[in-house]
Amino acid sequence: MSSPVLELQDVRVYFNIRRGVVKAADGIDLQLFPGERFGLVGESGSGKTTTALAILRMIKPPGKIEGGRIILDGDTDLLTLSDEEMRQIRLRRIAMIPQGAMNSLNPVMRIKDQMILAMRTHGIHVTNAQLMQRIEELLDSVGLQPNVAHLYPHELSGGMKQRVCIAIAISMHPQVILADEPTSALDVVVQRRIMQTLRTLQERLGAAVILVGHDMGLMAQFVDRLGVMYGGKLVEVGTVEEIFTDPKHPYTQLLISSIPSLDRKRNFQTIPGMPLSLHEPPPGCLFHPRCPQAMPQCSTVVPRTIEVTPGRDVLCLLYDEERTPQMKEKVDGAAS
Ligand code: SF4
Repeated sequence: MSSPVLELQDVRVYFNIRRGVVKAADGIDLQLFPGERFGLVGESGSGKTTTALAILRMIKPPGKIEGGRIILDGDTDLLTLSDEEMRQIRLRRIAMIPQGAMNSLNPVMRIKDQMILAMRTHGIHVTNAQLMQRIEELLDSVGLQPNVAHLYPHELSGGMKQRVCIAIAISMHPQVILADEPTSALDVVVQRRIMQTLRTLQERLGAAVILVGHDMGLMAQFVDRLGVMYGGKLVEVGTVEEIFTDPKHPYTQLLISSIPSLDRKRNFQTIPGMPLSLHEPPPGCLFHPRCPQAMPQCSTVVPRTIEVTPGRDVLCLLYDEERTPQMKEKVDGAAS
């Protein structure tokens, strides 16, 4: 396998608030390989958007990246760069397609002016005519007519605005594209078309993508590998096929069971209990108050990541032979 284009090592993002410290992303280890599509899933507040924003160093106070390393291309630790160096990395090497395109475009600027600003800011020094030609090519690549360049955001539909955001994101041919719920506000048909456009462009550029979201159906169609987040931690990583056919972590198992299906004639399950409060996290495993497979030690022992098979990581005591040998036998017995 090739070297990762992006690697997160023990990345921690904490929010210091009056009531204490909220660990929004806590010890994230992740590898993203060139050209791959990686999905980050989890319920609201699980830390997936925080992780994406940390990669771009766009965490706002009272949040702070407390530690870890974010390595781009094997040699650049983004957390050691100056603000100016980091500004040059954004868009040029790592681009973001934001959640809610309506809010990310400037309502009082024509589309072409926003695209010119983005490219000029990142060092494109060509004539205006050449820039206009590039804008038209970019709009064409996302399925928009050239006249869109002269319109204001309010004259576009939600899907068109999202396409403009994709055009801006790919304008500097980035190596990594972060897409944060890029189609959440759109209807299913538009959603599918936009994801198809993103896929085509990503393949053409050879860029790697991290897709952040909670729609498991969309993930299944778009990504190669999945990371499941809960309470600011990555609780399971595997290929899409592994996660969907053989989820290991109890939370992932419940996530998969909660997907409605017409052809699976089994009970539709919901995830029991209340979503986790990061203000007052429980001791031990963060999922233990909701976990149907919780054991007595789960309320006191903090799980560590176990590689159950190559490339397959699970944060759960069920798979930790040293700390829970009898449960490992049970898991193996159930699987055989
Ligand atoms: S460590 Fe225990 S509580 Fe946590 S997910 Fe595993 S079995 Fe459930």
